[in-house]
Amino acid sequence: MRRTETKQIRIGRLTLGGQDKVLIQSMCKHKTSDVDTIIKEINECEALGAKLMRVAILDEEDAKAISYIKRGINIPIVADIHFDPKLAILAIKCGANKIRLNPGNISDENKIKEIVELAKKKHVAIRVGANSGSVNKELDEFDIPLAHKLVLSVKQQVKILEKYDFHDIVISLKASNIKETIKAYELASEIFPYPLHIGITEAGPYELSVIRSTAGLAPLLLEGIGDTIRISITGDSKNEVIAAKRLLHDCGLYPNYPTFISCPTCGRTQVDVKPLGAKIFKYLEDNNIKLTVAVMGCVVNGPGEGKNADIGIAGGKGQYVIFKKGEVIKKVSEDEAYDAMIKEIDSLS
Ligand code: SF4
Repeated sequence: MRRTETKQIRIGRLTLGGQDKVLIQSMCKHKTSDVDTIIKEINECEALGAKLMRVAILDEEDAKAISYIKRGINIPIVADIHFDPKLAILAIKCGANKIRLNPGNISDENKIKEIVELAKKKHVAIRVGANSGSVNKELDEFDIPLAHKLVLSVKQQVKILEKYDFHDIVISLKASNIKETIKAYELASEIFPYPLHIGITEAGPYELSVIRSTAGLAPLLLEGIGDTIRISITGDSKNEVIAAKRLLHDCGLYPNYPTFISCPTCGRTQVDVKPLGAKIFKYLEDNNIKLTVAVMGCVVNGPGEGKNADIGIAGGKGQYVIFKKGEVIKKVSEDEAYDAMIKEIDSLS
């Protein structure tokens, strides 16, 4: 089932699923009861493109903090509960727009019913999911691929919610093994009508996570699978949002964003291209300039290889040439290069 065909559900004012749009989300890295810090973190992530943010609910203080956090933010908040029914109920009462729950780990049926009824009444969505560490124990004994175990685990959780006529469900299936994750999401997209939250779990620090997450998630995104995305990074949540945005853009799912290209440089390069490229890229991202901009190391190949760029710059001997659609328009010294490029970029944007 492609993302345009999944069920649409509401999360606060947001619509998730059933559209060719993948919503970026991240998770706060601070204690949820530290209200001011969480509000700042959520607002910073929103400014970068996050459409919803998740917070961990470890205790009653965290659950109660949701009502205060909501007063300082504009986007929906997801409460990460897992299996404590008391905290689930409290988080919903305090204004969570969606909760992450594992109903399979709640032994008391009455408690599940209570959570589901309250979620229905308050229009709160529920995300269920399995990851490689939380596959149902009875399935662990079977000699079947991890992808199947993940899907079967989730199927059991979905059934519990559907039994109480609850359908505002989001599904995740995460493994740090890329092949198994892709297989699991492909299977899930055939079986479930619900929107899919895609991500690679325990993906590591920034450099590693970006490679691992791209390897695992780009094939899904290009197949039309995935309604919301999180890039898990050991580190700042803002980097998760930026990485997700760049990945979606390269997959054609975030059109209003800069396209930056730069050559790897080689023995032909006679100017210091790396810092210039980094500065120009930062300017484009900071100002969300929707142009294709090239920074190339030499004039021999640069303008030709960057001919699809709206504007580009290529290094010569102690100077640069600026080109538009591959045609050189002016020469500038190394010292003038950044300011001259910014002037040209601004004139086009
Ligand atoms: S554009 Fe020029 S400097 Fe850059 S990699 Fe190609 S040949 Fe080398």
